[in-house]
Amino acid sequence: MRIGIVGGGQLARMLALAGIPLGIRFSVYDPAPDACASTVADLVNGDFEDLVALKAFAKQCDLVTFDFENVSASALAELVARCPVRPPPLALSTSQDRLKEKALFAALGVPVAPHCAIPGDIPANFDFPAILKTTRFGYDGKGQIGVASRDALDAAHAALRDVPCVLESKVAFERELSIIAVRNMSGDVRCYPLTENVHANGVLALSLAPARVTAALQKQAETIAVRVADALEYVGVFAIEFFDVGGQLVANEMAPRVHNSGHWTIEGAVTSQFENHIRAIAGLPLGDCSARGVSCMLNWVGALPDRAAALTIPGAHWHDYGKQARSGRKVGHMTVVAECRGQLDERVRERLSEFGESGGVLCDLLDLVNLNRTGD
Ligand code: AMP
Repeated sequence: MRIGIVGGGQLARMLALAGIPLGIRFSVYDPAPDACASTVADLVNGDFEDLVALKAFAKQCDLVTFDFENVSASALAELVARCPVRPPPLALSTSQDRLKEKALFAALGVPVAPHCAIPGDIPANFDFPAILKTTRFGYDGKGQIGVASRDALDAAHAALRDVPCVLESKVAFERELSIIAVRNMSGDVRCYPLTENVHANGVLALSLAPARVTAALQKQAETIAVRVADALEYVGVFAIEFFDVGGQLVANEMAPRVHNSGHWTIEGAVTSQFENHIRAIAGLPLGDCSARGVSCMLNWVGALPDRAAALTIPGAHWHDYGKQARSGRKVGHMTVVAECRGQLDERVRERLSEFGESGGVLCDLLDLVNLNRTGD
Protein backbone atom coordinates (compact mmCIF):
# COMPACT_ATOMS: atom_id res chain seq x y z
CA MET A 1 0.00 0.00 0.00
CA ARG A 2 1.15 3.52 -0.80
CA ILE A 3 -0.22 6.46 1.15
CA GLY A 4 0.05 9.92 -0.35
CA ILE A 5 0.43 12.82 2.06
CA VAL A 6 -0.41 16.29 0.83
CA GLY A 7 2.16 18.42 2.63
CA GLY A 8 5.71 17.25 3.28
CA GLY A 9 6.63 18.82 6.61
CA GLN A 10 7.60 17.26 9.91
CA LEU A 11 4.14 15.80 10.48
CA ALA A 12 4.34 13.94 7.16
CA ARG A 13 7.83 12.81 8.07
CA MET A 14 6.72 11.40 11.44
CA LEU A 15 3.68 9.76 9.79
CA ALA A 16 5.97 7.99 7.33
CA LEU A 17 8.39 7.00 10.08
CA ALA A 18 5.47 5.38 11.92
CA GLY A 19 3.94 3.75 8.86
CA ILE A 20 7.01 2.23 7.23
CA PRO A 21 7.28 -0.58 9.84
CA LEU A 22 3.64 -1.42 9.05
CA GLY A 23 4.74 -2.21 5.50
CA ILE A 24 3.36 0.97 3.99
CA ARG A 25 5.17 3.20 1.54
CA PHE A 26 4.74 6.95 1.31
CA SER A 27 4.70 9.74 -1.23
CA VAL A 28 4.50 13.38 -0.19
CA TYR A 29 3.25 16.30 -2.25
CA ASP A 30 4.80 19.66 -1.43
CA PRO A 31 5.94 22.77 -3.29
CA ALA A 32 9.32 22.84 -1.48
CA PRO A 33 12.18 20.95 -3.17
CA ASP A 34 13.70 20.38 0.30
CA ALA A 35 10.45 19.33 2.07
CA CYS A 36 11.67 17.59 5.22
CA ALA A 37 9.60 14.42 4.70
CA SER A 38 11.50 13.76 1.47
CA THR A 39 14.17 11.82 3.39
CA VAL A 40 11.63 9.10 4.23
CA ALA A 41 9.08 9.39 1.39
CA ASP A 42 9.05 9.96 -2.37
CA LEU A 43 8.64 13.67 -2.96
CA VAL A 44 6.42 15.08 -5.70
CA ASN A 45 6.79 18.82 -6.09
CA GLY A 46 3.67 20.76 -6.93
CA ASP A 47 1.52 23.68 -5.93
CA PHE A 48 -1.31 23.02 -3.46
CA GLU A 49 -3.79 24.71 -5.81
CA ASP A 50 -2.67 22.75 -8.90
CA LEU A 51 -5.53 20.32 -9.32
CA VAL A 52 -4.03 18.57 -12.36
CA ALA A 53 -0.80 17.81 -10.49
CA LEU A 54 -2.72 16.77 -7.34
CA LYS A 55 -4.84 14.36 -9.39
CA ALA A 56 -1.71 12.86 -10.97
CA PHE A 57 -0.27 12.47 -7.44
CA ALA A 58 -3.44 10.77 -6.15
CA LYS A 59 -3.35 8.38 -9.10
CA GLN A 60 -0.07 6.93 -7.80
CA CYS A 61 -1.50 6.36 -4.30
CA ASP A 62 -3.97 3.96 -2.69
CA LEU A 63 -5.24 6.67 -0.40
CA VAL A 64 -4.51 10.28 0.36
CA THR A 65 -4.17 12.14 3.65
CA PHE A 66 -2.74 15.57 4.51
CA ASP A 67 -0.33 16.97 7.04
CA PHE A 68 -1.42 20.58 7.34
CA GLU A 69 -4.55 22.63 7.19
CA ASN A 70 -3.98 25.19 4.49
CA VAL A 71 -4.38 22.66 1.69
CA SER A 72 -7.26 23.46 -0.64
CA ALA A 73 -10.25 21.50 0.73
CA SER A 74 -12.09 21.80 -2.58
CA ALA A 75 -9.10 20.33 -4.46
CA LEU A 76 -8.97 17.43 -1.99
CA ALA A 77 -12.72 16.92 -2.39
CA GLU A 78 -12.13 16.47 -6.13
CA LEU A 79 -9.59 13.72 -5.46
CA VAL A 80 -12.22 11.63 -3.70
CA ALA A 81 -13.40 10.38 -7.11
CA ARG A 82 -9.91 8.95 -7.70
CA CYS A 83 -8.96 7.48 -4.35
CA PRO A 84 -10.11 7.67 -0.72
CA VAL A 85 -9.18 10.90 1.09
CA ARG A 86 -9.01 10.49 4.87
CA PRO A 87 -9.82 12.47 7.00
CA PRO A 88 -12.83 13.65 4.96
CA PRO A 89 -12.43 17.02 3.21
CA LEU A 90 -15.50 18.25 5.18
CA ALA A 91 -13.40 18.13 8.36
CA LEU A 92 -10.70 20.15 6.65
CA SER A 93 -13.07 22.80 5.26
CA THR A 94 -14.73 23.15 8.69
CA SER A 95 -11.48 23.60 10.56
CA GLN A 96 -10.12 26.02 7.93
CA ASP A 97 -12.84 28.51 8.78
CA ARG A 98 -12.95 29.63 12.42
CA LEU A 99 -16.60 30.68 12.14
CA LYS A 100 -17.69 27.33 10.70
CA GLU A 101 -15.65 25.54 13.37
CA LYS A 102 -17.22 27.52 16.20
CA ALA A 103 -20.68 27.01 14.68
CA LEU A 104 -20.07 23.25 14.69
CA PHE A 105 -18.89 23.29 18.32
CA ALA A 106 -21.88 25.38 19.36
CA ALA A 107 -24.34 23.16 17.45
CA LEU A 108 -22.92 20.17 19.33
CA GLY A 109 -23.33 21.93 22.69
CA VAL A 110 -19.57 22.47 23.11
CA PRO A 111 -18.79 25.78 24.88
CA VAL A 112 -16.79 28.34 22.85
CA ALA A 113 -15.54 31.86 23.64
CA PRO A 114 -18.05 34.67 22.96
CA HIS A 115 -17.32 35.78 19.40
CA CYS A 116 -18.66 37.60 16.35
CA ALA A 117 -17.71 38.03 12.70
CA ILE A 118 -15.79 41.13 11.60
CA PRO A 119 -16.92 42.96 9.55
CA GLY A 120 -20.25 42.64 11.33
CA ASP A 121 -22.19 43.84 14.33
CA ILE A 122 -20.62 43.52 17.76
CA PRO A 123 -23.17 42.51 20.39
CA ALA A 124 -23.79 45.23 23.00
CA ASN A 125 -22.68 42.92 25.83
CA PHE A 126 -19.46 41.78 24.10
CA ASP A 127 -16.52 41.64 26.51
CA PHE A 128 -13.14 43.24 25.83
CA PRO A 129 -10.19 42.64 25.88
CA ALA A 130 -10.53 40.44 22.84
CA ILE A 131 -8.46 38.77 20.13
CA LEU A 132 -9.05 39.43 16.47
CA LYS A 133 -8.21 36.38 14.34
CA THR A 134 -8.33 35.98 10.58
CA THR A 135 -11.16 33.57 9.79
CA ARG A 136 -8.88 31.53 7.54
CA PHE A 137 -5.18 30.71 7.20
CA GLY A 138 -4.14 31.39 10.79
CA TYR A 139 -1.77 29.10 12.65
CA ASP A 140 0.81 29.28 15.44
CA GLY A 141 -0.47 32.68 16.57
CA LYS A 142 -0.13 34.13 13.06
CA GLY A 143 -3.05 36.19 11.79
CA GLN A 144 -4.18 37.33 15.22
CA ILE A 145 -3.90 40.48 17.23
CA GLY A 146 -5.03 41.61 20.70
CA VAL A 147 -7.78 44.24 20.83
CA ALA A 148 -7.98 46.08 24.16
CA SER A 149 -11.25 47.89 23.49
CA ARG A 150 -13.84 48.60 20.84
CA ASP A 151 -11.93 51.77 19.87
CA ALA A 152 -8.86 49.72 18.94
CA LEU A 153 -10.75 47.40 16.60
CA ASP A 154 -10.46 49.33 13.32
CA ALA A 155 -6.69 49.67 13.60
CA ALA A 156 -6.35 45.96 14.48
CA HIS A 157 -8.51 44.98 11.53
CA ALA A 158 -6.46 47.21 9.20
CA ALA A 159 -3.29 45.52 10.52
CA LEU A 160 -4.83 42.22 9.38
CA ARG A 161 -5.50 43.85 5.99
CA ASP A 162 -9.26 44.03 6.59
CA VAL A 163 -9.72 40.34 5.67
CA PRO A 164 -12.74 38.51 7.19
CA CYS A 165 -12.04 37.94 10.87
CA VAL A 166 -13.48 36.55 14.09
CA LEU A 167 -13.43 38.75 17.18
CA GLU A 168 -13.18 36.59 20.30
CA SER A 169 -13.38 37.67 23.92
CA LYS A 170 -10.19 36.86 25.76
CA VAL A 171 -10.80 33.80 27.91
CA ALA A 172 -9.36 33.97 31.44
CA PHE A 173 -8.22 30.36 31.42
CA GLU A 174 -6.33 28.50 34.11
CA ARG A 175 -4.45 26.44 31.57
CA GLU A 176 -4.57 25.11 28.05
CA LEU A 177 -5.33 21.48 27.40
CA SER A 178 -5.71 19.42 24.25
CA ILE A 179 -7.16 16.06 23.47
CA ILE A 180 -5.76 13.87 20.72
CA ALA A 181 -8.18 11.22 19.51
CA VAL A 182 -8.51 8.75 16.67
CA ARG A 183 -11.63 7.47 14.90
CA ASN A 184 -11.69 4.53 12.53
CA MET A 185 -13.97 3.75 9.60
CA SER A 186 -16.40 1.82 11.81
CA GLY A 187 -16.83 4.86 14.04
CA ASP A 188 -14.81 3.59 17.03
CA VAL A 189 -13.07 6.44 18.84
CA ARG A 190 -10.07 6.18 21.15
CA CYS A 191 -8.67 9.10 23.10
CA TYR A 192 -5.25 9.79 24.52
CA PRO A 193 -4.97 11.28 28.01
CA LEU A 194 -5.39 15.07 27.97
CA THR A 195 -2.19 17.06 27.44
CA GLU A 196 -1.27 20.34 29.21
CA ASN A 197 0.17 22.88 26.81
CA VAL A 198 2.16 26.06 27.31
CA HIS A 199 2.51 28.55 24.46
CA ALA A 200 5.07 31.31 23.95
CA ASN A 201 4.22 34.00 21.39
CA GLY A 202 1.29 31.93 20.14
CA VAL A 203 3.55 28.93 19.40
CA LEU A 204 3.46 25.73 21.44
CA ALA A 205 6.56 25.71 23.65
CA LEU A 206 5.99 22.60 25.76
CA SER A 207 3.49 19.87 26.52
CA LEU A 208 3.07 17.75 29.60
CA ALA A 209 1.23 14.45 29.50
CA PRO A 210 -0.86 13.00 30.93
CA ALA A 211 -2.33 16.31 32.13
CA ARG A 212 -3.07 16.58 35.86
CA VAL A 213 -6.82 16.50 35.54
CA THR A 214 -9.72 14.78 37.24
CA ALA A 215 -11.35 11.76 35.62
CA ALA A 216 -14.41 13.99 35.13
CA LEU A 217 -12.45 16.51 33.05
CA GLN A 218 -10.93 13.72 30.93
CA LYS A 219 -14.44 12.38 30.40
CA GLN A 220 -15.70 15.85 29.44
CA ALA A 221 -12.99 16.11 26.77
CA GLU A 222 -13.63 12.60 25.46
CA THR A 223 -17.36 13.23 25.16
CA ILE A 224 -16.66 16.36 23.10
CA ALA A 225 -14.11 14.52 20.93
CA VAL A 226 -16.57 11.73 20.15
CA ARG A 227 -19.36 14.19 19.36
CA VAL A 228 -17.20 16.24 16.98
CA ALA A 229 -15.68 13.20 15.25
CA ASP A 230 -19.06 11.56 14.75
CA ALA A 231 -20.57 14.76 13.34
CA LEU A 232 -17.78 14.97 10.76
CA GLU A 233 -17.75 11.20 10.06
CA TYR A 234 -14.08 11.60 10.80
CA VAL A 235 -11.42 8.99 10.02
CA GLY A 236 -7.91 9.43 11.43
CA VAL A 237 -6.30 11.37 14.26
CA PHE A 238 -7.45 14.85 15.26
CA ALA A 239 -6.86 17.30 18.07
CA ILE A 240 -9.13 19.69 19.93
CA GLU A 241 -7.54 22.52 21.88
CA PHE A 242 -9.31 23.70 25.01
CA PHE A 243 -9.12 26.40 27.63
CA ASP A 244 -9.71 25.07 31.15
CA VAL A 245 -11.91 27.63 32.90
CA GLY A 246 -12.51 26.39 36.43
CA GLY A 247 -12.99 22.79 35.36
CA GLN A 248 -15.17 23.68 32.38
CA LEU A 249 -13.64 23.08 28.96
CA VAL A 250 -14.05 25.85 26.37
CA ALA A 251 -13.10 24.69 22.87
CA ASN A 252 -10.62 26.92 21.06
CA GLU A 253 -10.00 25.06 17.83
CA MET A 254 -9.75 21.71 16.14
CA ALA A 255 -6.93 20.36 13.97
CA PRO A 256 -7.97 17.65 11.49
CA ARG A 257 -4.58 15.94 11.67
CA VAL A 258 -1.87 14.73 13.98
CA HIS A 259 -0.91 17.57 16.29
CA ASN A 260 2.18 19.09 17.86
CA SER A 261 0.71 18.55 21.34
CA GLY A 262 0.60 14.82 20.58
CA HIS A 263 4.30 14.41 19.74
CA TRP A 264 4.91 13.01 23.23
CA THR A 265 2.92 9.91 22.19
CA ILE A 266 5.84 8.66 20.05
CA GLU A 267 7.71 7.53 23.14
CA GLY A 268 5.19 8.28 25.89
CA ALA A 269 2.19 6.21 24.73
CA VAL A 270 1.70 2.58 23.81
CA THR A 271 0.79 3.56 20.23
CA SER A 272 1.81 6.95 18.84
CA GLN A 273 -0.63 9.40 17.29
CA PHE A 274 1.24 8.93 14.01
CA GLU A 275 0.86 5.16 13.98
CA ASN A 276 -2.79 5.42 15.01
CA HIS A 277 -3.49 7.86 12.18
CA ILE A 278 -1.97 5.44 9.67
CA ARG A 279 -3.83 2.51 11.25
CA ALA A 280 -7.17 4.38 11.10
CA ILE A 281 -6.90 5.57 7.50
CA ALA A 282 -5.51 2.24 6.27
CA GLY A 283 -8.33 0.27 7.90
CA LEU A 284 -6.06 -1.46 10.44
CA PRO A 285 -7.06 -2.08 14.08
CA LEU A 286 -6.52 0.95 16.32
CA GLY A 287 -3.74 0.85 18.90
CA ASP A 288 -3.78 1.46 22.64
CA CYS A 289 -3.71 5.18 23.52
CA SER A 290 -2.57 4.70 27.15
CA ALA A 291 0.41 6.66 28.42
CA ARG A 292 3.62 4.95 29.45
CA GLY A 293 4.80 6.98 32.41
CA VAL A 294 4.81 10.77 32.20
CA SER A 295 6.23 12.86 29.38
CA CYS A 296 7.40 16.36 28.73
CA MET A 297 7.73 17.51 25.11
CA LEU A 298 9.86 20.57 24.44
CA ASN A 299 9.61 22.26 21.05
CA TRP A 300 12.74 23.57 19.39
CA VAL A 301 11.72 26.78 17.69
CA GLY A 302 14.18 28.70 15.48
CA ALA A 303 17.25 26.52 16.06
CA LEU A 304 18.26 23.22 17.62
CA PRO A 305 20.11 23.28 20.95
CA ASP A 306 23.03 20.96 21.69
CA ARG A 307 21.99 17.41 20.85
CA ALA A 308 24.78 15.73 22.80
CA ALA A 309 23.83 17.57 26.01
CA ALA A 310 20.22 16.59 25.55
CA LEU A 311 20.99 12.94 25.02
CA THR A 312 22.73 12.65 28.38
CA ILE A 313 19.32 13.15 30.03
CA PRO A 314 17.83 9.76 30.93
CA GLY A 315 14.59 9.13 29.02
CA ALA A 316 15.33 11.85 26.44
CA HIS A 317 14.38 11.35 22.80
CA TRP A 318 15.61 13.71 20.13
CA HIS A 319 13.76 14.69 16.97
CA ASP A 320 15.59 16.77 14.37
CA TYR A 321 13.23 17.54 11.49
CA GLY A 322 16.12 18.24 9.11
CA LYS A 323 14.87 21.76 8.46
CA GLN A 324 16.91 24.92 7.91
CA ALA A 325 17.11 27.00 11.09
CA ARG A 326 14.90 30.10 10.81
CA SER A 327 13.40 32.41 13.38
CA GLY A 328 9.99 31.19 14.58
CA ARG A 329 10.24 27.90 12.67
CA LYS A 330 9.65 24.56 14.41
CA VAL A 331 12.88 22.68 13.66
CA GLY A 332 12.66 19.80 16.10
CA HIS A 333 11.52 18.66 19.51
CA MET A 334 12.64 16.55 22.45
CA THR A 335 10.50 14.31 24.61
CA VAL A 336 11.64 13.23 28.04
CA VAL A 337 9.81 10.25 29.50
CA ALA A 338 9.95 9.37 33.20
CA GLU A 339 8.20 7.09 35.65
CA CYS A 340 6.69 9.87 37.75
CA ARG A 341 6.47 13.67 37.97
CA GLY A 342 9.30 13.98 40.48
CA GLN A 343 11.63 12.06 38.22
CA LEU A 344 10.48 14.09 35.20
CA ASP A 345 11.19 17.32 37.08
CA GLU A 346 14.69 16.11 37.93
CA ARG A 347 15.33 15.03 34.38
CA VAL A 348 14.01 18.11 32.64
CA ARG A 349 14.14 21.22 34.77
CA GLU A 350 17.47 20.57 36.43
CA ARG A 351 19.10 20.10 33.05
CA LEU A 352 17.48 22.83 31.01
CA SER A 353 20.13 25.38 31.96
CA GLU A 354 22.42 23.47 29.61
CA PHE A 355 20.29 24.58 26.68
CA GLY A 356 21.32 28.23 26.58
CA GLU A 357 18.65 30.80 26.01
CA SER A 358 15.93 28.40 24.92
CA GLY A 359 16.51 26.42 28.12
CA GLY A 360 16.06 29.56 30.21
CA VAL A 361 12.77 30.35 28.51
CA LEU A 362 11.55 26.79 28.89
CA CYS A 363 12.59 26.75 32.57
CA ASP A 364 10.43 29.82 33.17
CA LEU A 365 7.53 28.12 31.41
CA LEU A 366 8.04 24.96 33.42
CA ASP A 367 7.90 27.06 36.57
CA LEU A 368 4.51 28.24 35.42
CA VAL A 369 3.36 24.66 35.00
CA ASN A 370 5.04 23.58 38.23
CA LEU A 371 5.87 20.00 37.43
CA ASN A 372 5.86 19.02 41.06
CA ARG A 373 2.23 19.98 41.55
CA THR A 374 0.64 16.63 42.07
CA GLY A 375 -2.67 17.26 40.41
CA ASP A 376 -6.31 17.66 41.02
P1 AMP B 1 -5.10 29.80 18.14
O1 AMP B 1 -4.41 30.21 16.88
O2 AMP B 1 -6.57 30.09 18.12
O3 AMP B 1 -4.79 28.38 18.52
O4 AMP B 1 -4.47 30.68 19.31
C1 AMP B 1 -3.11 30.55 19.69
C2 AMP B 1 -2.97 30.81 21.19
O5 AMP B 1 -3.44 32.14 21.50
C3 AMP B 1 -3.84 29.91 22.05
O6 AMP B 1 -3.22 28.67 22.27
C4 AMP B 1 -3.95 30.75 23.32
O7 AMP B 1 -2.75 30.71 24.07
C5 AMP B 1 -4.12 32.15 22.78
N1 AMP B 1 -5.56 32.44 22.56
C6 AMP B 1 -6.26 32.25 21.43
N2 AMP B 1 -7.56 32.59 21.57
C7 AMP B 1 -7.71 33.01 22.84
C8 AMP B 1 -8.82 33.52 23.62
N3 AMP B 1 -10.06 33.66 23.10
N4 AMP B 1 -8.58 33.85 24.90
C9 AMP B 1 -7.34 33.73 25.45
N5 AMP B 1 -6.27 33.27 24.77
C10 AMP B 1 -6.43 32.91 23.48
